Amino acid sequence: MNKQFVSKLNAEFSNKRVEAEHDLSVRFAAAMQDQRFGELYTAKRSLENELLRRSSMKLDAGDLRQRLKDATKAYDEYVISHNLDIEAHYQCPICHDKGWVDDKPCKCYMEAYSDLLRKEALISPLPDFNFEDNRLEELGVNEKTQQLYPMFQKFCDNFDYSKLRSVYLSGAVGVGKTTLLSCIANKLIKNGKYVVYVTAFDWSRIVLAKHLSKNDALSELYDSLLQCDLLIIDDLGTEPMYKNVSLEYFLSIVDWRINHGKKTILSSNLTGDQFVKRYGERAFSRICNKAYAYATYIDGIDLRKIKPKH
Ligand SMILES: [Zn+2]
Repeated sequence: MNKQFVSKLNAEFSNKRVEAEHDLSVRFAAAMQDQRFGELYTAKRSLENELLRRSSMKLDAGDLRQRLKDATKAYDEYVISHNLDIEAHYQCPICHDKGWVDDKPCKCYMEAYSDLLRKEALISPLPDFNFEDNRLEELGVNEKTQQLYPMFQKFCDNFDYSKLRSVYLSGAVGVGKTTLLSCIANKLIKNGKYVVYVTAFDWSRIVLAKHLSKNDALSELYDSLLQCDLLIIDDLGTEPMYKNVSLEYFLSIVDWRINHGKKTILSSNLTGDQFVKRYGERAFSRICNKAYAYATYIDGIDLRKIKPKH
């Protein structure tokens, strides 16, 4: 991870903790207004301190442990029966907003890191469409694309077990490919998967930055293209192609992901032939290999319009 972004993120996490702890101290001070609570709390704390003192001086604890157990029980019962909210409200239950657990970044930290890089690198955000929206008609998703929805909902529900490693959705502009991709991405993110959505344009900026060994957010995003559970590259064919860069990186990312059992979805306005012309036969056969791939062409003709009228 890049030091500059790590220190920026560490500062954000530290602020989150300070806020959560300040909020707790306000609620705790309010609870201490209750005399009985104050007594129970003070009794528990002084037993804890005494136990600590004796143990540091290697003195016998006597009946202190039992007394502390009783005091803790009385304290806990009082807190529950009076509905006192005196826990810190951390956003992450795993790391308590520290961002790190045993010197390793927490999942919440990695997500925040990726968000920070995307923001710094001006990467297009993931559109906010969901399978639950129920407004496909309104969004202009054509009927052929709509027919793919149940299959991809199943793919998301069964993500870890799905043998599908590569999907190629090709079709004319305006058939609703991006809407479908966004539904898939948002569903999987909700299910805790690490999903990276990039437009082909952003993808080509990232690989160029990596190729030029730039020490910036774009280049730093390169690893996420390899490591994520699902990589979505939207609108292939519209990005600038850099000689000796774009195609080579494209092949190596696709190869790496397929070889590591990771899933990738590509969308494009290009037909199969146009795709081969632009990216080559090898890329096409890797992406559309029947053993693990699903490829489809969604034409722009709205099926509703060609149904005979009754
Ligand atoms: Zn966390």
